[in-house]
Amino acid sequence: MQNLWENTSKEKGNFSYCPDNQIVDLTIIGGGFTGCSAALEAARRGASVALLESEKIGFGGSGRNVGLVNAGLWLPPKKIISILGEKQGETLISALGSAPDLVFSIIEDNQIKCDPERNGTLHCAHSEKGVDYLINRAKQKQEYGEPVALLDEKETQNKIGSSKFFGSLHDPRAGTIQPLAYCHGLARKAKELGAKIYEKSKATQVRRHNGRWHTNIKDVIIQSKYLLFAMNAYQDLNEEQNTGKFSTVYYSQFATRALNSNEMSTILPNKEGCWDTATIMSSFRVDDAGRIILGTMGNSEGLGRRIHSNWANKKLRDLFPFLPELEFNYRWSGKIAMTKDHIPKIVNFEKNALSCFGYSGRGIAPGTFFGKACAEALLSEDLSMLPIPTLKHYREPLTREKTAFFEMAAMANNSVKSLKM
Ligand SMILES: Cc1cc2nc3c(=O)[nH]c(=O)nc-3n(C[C@H](O)[C@H](O)[C@H](O)COP(=O)(O)OP(=O)(O)OC[C@H]3O[C@@H](n4cnc5c(N)ncnc54)[C@H](O)[C@@H]3O)c2cc1C
Repeated sequence: MQNLWENTSKEKGNFSYCPDNQIVDLTIIGGGFTGCSAALEAARRGASVALLESEKIGFGGSGRNVGLVNAGLWLPPKKIISILGEKQGETLISALGSAPDLVFSIIEDNQIKCDPERNGTLHCAHSEKGVDYLINRAKQKQEYGEPVALLDEKETQNKIGSSKFFGSLHDPRAGTIQPLAYCHGLARKAKELGAKIYEKSKATQVRRHNGRWHTNIKDVIIQSKYLLFAMNAYQDLNEEQNTGKFSTVYYSQFATRALNSNEMSTILPNKEGCWDTATIMSSFRVDDAGRIILGTMGNSEGLGRRIHSNWANKKLRDLFPFLPELEFNYRWSGKIAMTKDHIPKIVNFEKNALSCFGYSGRGIAPGTFFGKACAEALLSEDLSMLPIPTLKHYREPLTREKTAFFEMAAMANNSVKSLKM
C-alpha cells in the first residue's frame, strides 16, 4: 500500500542526479527538512550549495511523518533544563517554542502548497493518570511562558468528536501540514535561489583533502569548504563515516478515504493534530481532503504488519463508532531517530563540518530550525550561534537491541489493545 503524502503532494520537485564534478561553498547530504532548510538558508545568503539525496526529496522521515508542526521537544521544560543546564536549556526551549512560527512563515513567504492549518495540537489524556501527567506538563510549560491550555473531558470531546479521552492539552502555537509537500516546497525554493538539488545521488564517500571536503557520488566529486550531514534516521554511509549512533523506532500510519461532509461534521472541525499520553503512543488527524490518518509506534511493513493493521481497524471504530465500516486505502511507516535523552545532537566531527540528527520524533519545526542554524553557523564560521553546544562524536551502546525492543513492545501493546477495543 502507498504513502498518502506521495499521492497527494501539491508540490512536485523536478530534480536530476548529480552529473559532474563541481566546487561549491557548502555540500549537504540528505534531502529532508534539515538538509532542505539548510540549502534554502545558504542559498538565501548567496552561498553556492549542492544538496545530495540518495533517493528522492523527502524519502526519509520528512516524507513519512504525521505532519504535526509541534512547538518544543517531547520533553517537558524541567527535564530539558536538568539535561542541558539552565542557560542552554532555556535557549533551546525558547528557540523551539517559536520554531512553528519559522515553519509557517517559510510556508507563507514562499507560497508552499502544503495545506497548512494552524489551529494547534491536542495532547490527549488516554486515562486518569494521563490527566495528571498533562496537569504537570501544563504547569511546567506555563512557568516558562508557553501558552498551553488544559481542556476538560467535555471540551476535548467537542474538539475531537470522540468520547475516548479524559482531557487534553491544547498548544495554539502548533499546527499541521502535508509534510512531504512542505519538504518539496523547501527544496523548490532553495533551487529557485540557486541551490543545486540532486536526487538519486548517494554520497558514497567523504574525505578532507587539502583543506576542502571531497564528497563522492560514485566517480563524481563535489568539493566544498563546508559540509553538513543531514541524514538522521536514514543515514547510509560507511560505518566509519557515521557521526552518530542512536536507536531507531518505527512509526506507522493508516489513512482512510476522504469522508463526506456529513461523516466529518463532528470530527476535528478545527483540524487540530492529536496524539495521546500512552507510553506506546498513537496519533490521529485529518488531512485537507477529510481523510482520517491514524498512527502508532511499530513497523507496519515488518513482522508486525498484521498486528498493527488490526490495531488500526479497531482503533478507528473505537474512536469514532458512528462512522460506517471504513477501509484504509493508505499504509506506510518510517524510522524515527531516537537519542537516549531525546535531545537532538549536532556533531562538529571535523573543521567546517557538522552533522545534525536525533529529533526523537519531532523534526518538522526542529529540523527546519536546526538546518537553518547549521547553515548559518557553517557559513559564518561561528558555532556559538547554534541552539545547542556541539559534540565531537555521539555513540550510544546497544542501539540494535533497543530498536528491536521498541518494536516488540509496540507489537505486544497493539495486540493487547486490539483485544480490549
Ligand atoms: C512515521 C514518522 C512520523 C513522524 N511524525 C512527526 C510529526 O508529526 N512531527 C514532527 O515534527 N516530526 C515527526 N517525525 C520526525 C520527523 O519526520 C524527522 O525528525 C524529520 O523528518 C527528520 O528530517 P531530516 O531532514 O533530519 O531527515 P530525513 O527526512 O530522514 O532525511 C534524511 C535523508 O538523507 C538521505 N540520505 C541518507 N544517506 C544518504 C547518503 N549517503 N547520500 C545522500 N542522501 C542520503 C535519506 O535518503 C533521507 O532522505 C516523524 C517521523 C516518522 C518516521
